[in-house]
Amino acid sequence: MYYYIKTFGCQMNENDSGLISTLLKSNGYLPCATPDAADIIIVNTCCVRQSAENRALGFIGSLKSLKEARPELIIAVCGCMSQQSDTAEILQKKYRQVGIITGTFATALLPQYIEDYATTGQRIIDIEARYDHKEIGNICPEPNEQQAYRAQVNINFGCNNFCSYCIVPYVRGRERSRDPQEIINQISCLAACGVKEVQLLGQNVNSYGKDMPEAGWDFARLLEQINQITGIERIRYMTSHPRDFNRRLAETIAALPKVCRHFHLPVQSGCDRLLTLMNRGYTTKAYLDKLAMIRQLTPDAAVTSDIIVGFPGETEEDFQQTLGFIQQARFDAVYTFIYSQRSGTKAAEMPHQISAEIKNLRLQQLMAVQNPISLARNEELVGTVQEIMVDGISKNNTVMMSGRTSGNKIVVFPKSEGLKAGDLVKISITAAGTWNLSGAISENIDS
Ligand code: SF4
Repeated sequence: MYYYIKTFGCQMNENDSGLISTLLKSNGYLPCATPDAADIIIVNTCCVRQSAENRALGFIGSLKSLKEARPELIIAVCGCMSQQSDTAEILQKKYRQVGIITGTFATALLPQYIEDYATTGQRIIDIEARYDHKEIGNICPEPNEQQAYRAQVNINFGCNNFCSYCIVPYVRGRERSRDPQEIINQISCLAACGVKEVQLLGQNVNSYGKDMPEAGWDFARLLEQINQITGIERIRYMTSHPRDFNRRLAETIAALPKVCRHFHLPVQSGCDRLLTLMNRGYTTKAYLDKLAMIRQLTPDAAVTSDIIVGFPGETEEDFQQTLGFIQQARFDAVYTFIYSQRSGTKAAEMPHQISAEIKNLRLQQLMAVQNPISLARNEELVGTVQEIMVDGISKNNTVMMSGRTSGNKIVVFPKSEGLKAGDLVKISITAAGTWNLSGAISENIDS
């Protein structure tokens, strides 16, 4: 039987879909490229923003005619959206074409549910939050077919932080760390298969190990161990919470050559009043102190951040404080998000929700302040030599190749015969733009 997976949402969901695919293959199912060719369609949903939820529901709705034409077709909806009981109810009542509805805790049970549904034709719904069985994130990822040199590995799941705007703790559950030896074994195995860059995933990687204090593990110790794995040349991770980022971790990263010089530390707002309302657990001063520590210990590091505009009650003065903050922080890049009201979160009930018009205006204003800073930060690299890992032929220009610096900046350079994806090469940076750098080969490290 053939399966097709449609994924909505973030990198974590993309990763989960890869693991679902691995699981289905190990159960004898085969992937196919379109829903039309599939016997089983899996929709892996996201509810972090309304737009992702709308798109997922639109896609599920569009499958109705396929199911009518082929009643034996199995349609399963999984992920964050179906973990919410009110959405699962809507799916049950209005989307009769869906045969299996599972939440985030039951994803690894999909092969069993597919078999049960194929046998009985009875609808299966499992959105119970439970922590007593193997999770999808524990499955060993296959090296990505397009990027065999790069793999993502979950290190922890869930989140305990309850930021007031965020639905994740409600749909992904409490924080739980994976067994360190299992993580190390998986990465050693991936390295033996040719993986050179590993990206460690968690809603908050900095709190790794906090739920198992007797074991004596934290994120810094995990990085030290992974740094020793032969074949792994680069280690990345996401996402970090500024409150849990500490000196021990900053010093460990500074001392480990394989850990990339890129810190993504989402601040979310440059206004203390809003940070309190967001329940972020730090002040702008505490954040700037940590930023200074990072830049003192790793002066060559790139630092990026996330900012939400239009949080409930955000006044013009609050927003101006955020603009002032990003000018002071001088991030290499800022990922900007428009606040999305998520039912069930505290912020959804707060007064003074901001109009779409003001949110959009503030987004533009924020980018107008940040973009010249990003350009200036990139221009500081012109004249330097950067080690990059090659991604392959540039998407926009087939006579060029592209890759990423340790700081995660994209570098474009003339194609060179014999150079392939995953190779490390030294590039002399000759020009900078807001979003990328360009240069020429200075030295091929792998040759
Ligand atoms: S740290 Fe905050 S924003 Fe991140 S997943 Fe947890 S609750 Fe959501």
